[in-house]
Amino acid sequence: MNKQEARAVMTDVMEKFLGLACKRLPDDVYAKLKECREKETSEMQKVIYDTYFDNLEKAIELNRPCCQDTGLLHFYINCGSEFPYMGIVEEALREATSKATFSSPLRQNTVNWFEERNTGDNTGERMPWLHWEIIPDNSDLEICTYFAGGGCCLPGCAKVFKPSDGYAAIVKYVFDAVSDLGINACPPLIVGVGLGHNMENAAVLSKMAYLRPLGTHHHHPKGEKLEKDLLEGLNKLGIGAQGLPGNQVAMEVHVESSARHTATIAVGVNVACYAHRRGFITFHDDMSYDFSKSYKGVEL
Ligand code: SF4
Repeated sequence: MNKQEARAVMTDVMEKFLGLACKRLPDDVYAKLKECREKETSEMQKVIYDTYFDNLEKAIELNRPCCQDTGLLHFYINCGSEFPYMGIVEEALREATSKATFSSPLRQNTVNWFEERNTGDNTGERMPWLHWEIIPDNSDLEICTYFAGGGCCLPGCAKVFKPSDGYAAIVKYVFDAVSDLGINACPPLIVGVGLGHNMENAAVLSKMAYLRPLGTHHHHPKGEKLEKDLLEGLNKLGIGAQGLPGNQVAMEVHVESSARHTATIAVGVNVACYAHRRGFITFHDDMSYDFSKSYKGVEL
């Protein structure tokens, strides 16, 4: 297959994949929401969860996005160093975003900064947003697609502390972020916490944290314990679905980390809402593809 043919295939597949991912929650998120529904005790919380599920079922039945805010398109890309079509990926994702805006349809959310004009097709300056990682000795391309809604972006923040401020400062920062603005993001949330050495690496890590499949944990036992402790503590705040009284403001807390400078500790916080429209799709080097990591028993 030549590059133009590969580009046409990827554009077509990604346009359809965006149409799927804006309407159907990934299997792991749907299952987790069911678990959360079972844990809530108040009648009001049960009604909210039942409304969520009703909405999610109707989105599939009526072939419409499951939330009106289909966000801005983010693509987190793990590209094998041997994948033969790296050069066409950005163009294909841009074109797929533009086409999906009309075929899905997606809300036209994208505004260029200084013209203050909506671009009309969800493409714009550096949009869709692409984040690349190169995987050595691998020939696949894995794309994690994420619809970044306004309510989910609002609580995002990052800060650098002195090491003497310690873990306590980090924990307080996470709690403040979730309790101040987290309710704008339609709880129950997936809270991504990035631990690094400066603001931007902590922020990127916090994004990578909440994109991780549910049921996975930080690779270090202390990181995993921090995830569990934060989840337990946040879920004692008395905030539930839709920010109303309840037992679970968070479905999960995920932590990602990098080594840090001896003189700094940095934390980033990003939250994802109950409508966590995050889907993984992998293209192989012959441009065949597979998205069963996120959706089983579904066709494009
Ligand atoms: S927070 Fe999520 S579910 Fe709520 S309006 Fe925004 S995108 Fe939709």
